[in-house]
Amino acid sequence: MSLLLKNVSHQNKITDILIDNGRFSKISPQQQPLDAEIIDCRNKAILPAFYNLHSHAGMSIFRGLSDDKELFSWLNQDIWPREAKLTPDMIHLATKFSILEMIKTGTVFFLDMYFEQQEILKAAQEMGVRTISALTGLDLFDPNKTKTEIEKIEKYISCPDHDERCAKGLMIHAVYSVSEELIRYIVKRSQEEGYYLTLHASETAKEVEDCLKTHGCTPIEYLDQLGALGPKTIVAHAVHLSDEDIALLARKKVPLCTNPVSNYKLASGLFMLQKLQKSGCILTLGTDSMASNNNLSMLEEMKLCALSAKIQSGDATAGNAEDIFNMATINGAQAVGLDAGIIAEGKLADCILVDLNNHFLIPNYNLISNMVYSADSSCIDTVICNGRILMQSHHVNGEEEIISEIKKLSDYFRN
Ligand SMILES: [Zn+2]
Repeated sequence: MSLLLKNVSHQNKITDILIDNGRFSKISPQQQPLDAEIIDCRNKAILPAFYNLHSHAGMSIFRGLSDDKELFSWLNQDIWPREAKLTPDMIHLATKFSILEMIKTGTVFFLDMYFEQQEILKAAQEMGVRTISALTGLDLFDPNKTKTEIEKIEKYISCPDHDERCAKGLMIHAVYSVSEELIRYIVKRSQEEGYYLTLHASETAKEVEDCLKTHGCTPIEYLDQLGALGPKTIVAHAVHLSDEDIALLARKKVPLCTNPVSNYKLASGLFMLQKLQKSGCILTLGTDSMASNNNLSMLEEMKLCALSAKIQSGDATAGNAEDIFNMATINGAQAVGLDAGIIAEGKLADCILVDLNNHFLIPNYNLISNMVYSADSSCIDTVICNGRILMQSHHVNGEEEIISEIKKLSDYFRN
């Protein structure tokens, strides 16, 4: 079935956009296809949807459970003990709840890293979004755990693939939580399988100091020595980088994913956006989890990213709206090999329709500026992924049931 977006505003012109077989097939006014579902898009503008390059969707059940702590005590005292209680069913439900929030805020792809990644794949498939679901390797330097982690990885790799929208990947939790043996194993297996690899690195000053003491080099240099860096490795956080780290990341074409809200909430530091941009690094944007954010809105993330680039550099021209919007859309899509992130004929039909009568978008001198600096999720009326409508008139099918189930589950974790 084709979809016709009738009278939609695209780059300040009113046109029709035909979607066929999951792609934008024709952009021109006054189209009259024989067989297409028609959406009346008067007073709506089309924009690319968002690509969230760093999430832990299964953690949505921990939103607001523990705030205002530093990273290591937050993980050790509050998060890891509770994660031990999560069952596959709980992770499945929590992931659907995260995806619901992503759709409501215009996101159609998330690079996820957690446990029970099969459940994340299933949830993404059911909700109609795209994902790369990366199984997290985390052995805390315990040789017995290294073995079980390797078994888990092999089991995950051997699982059948789901569909073209949902792919498997692997993750190295961090250099402070994963042994050299397991890092080497994950790197090797992801290369053999052609998977995307992702990891947390250089998130805090302490992580870098500890790595310098233990390995005599920075986390980025250490990961490079173990063969982990390349264009299919997405490095999350990358807050504390030396000039040598930056040159290495640029040379190896490693996409970086900044997570401003999470970094500032945990007082990790300010991302050096302008410096990284000038060095030619590939920059993308992510939310991290609901436990450390505490929401999954890429709109919030864009605004904070732009503001922090200015504060960090002391230059108000840093982090301009267009660059930040590109980080959340086309840069993210390209970093994970998707032919998407732009509204153009032949590209994958991932998009949002925004309401031009929403007060946040008025006056509309510059829609991208409004999206980065002014908009909230109430501006997003419709979300389409792979040519399929996931949200229309702000409603997602099945949302009431997901919300009711997650409320019940939260009672279990209350104490
Ligand atoms: Zn993370």
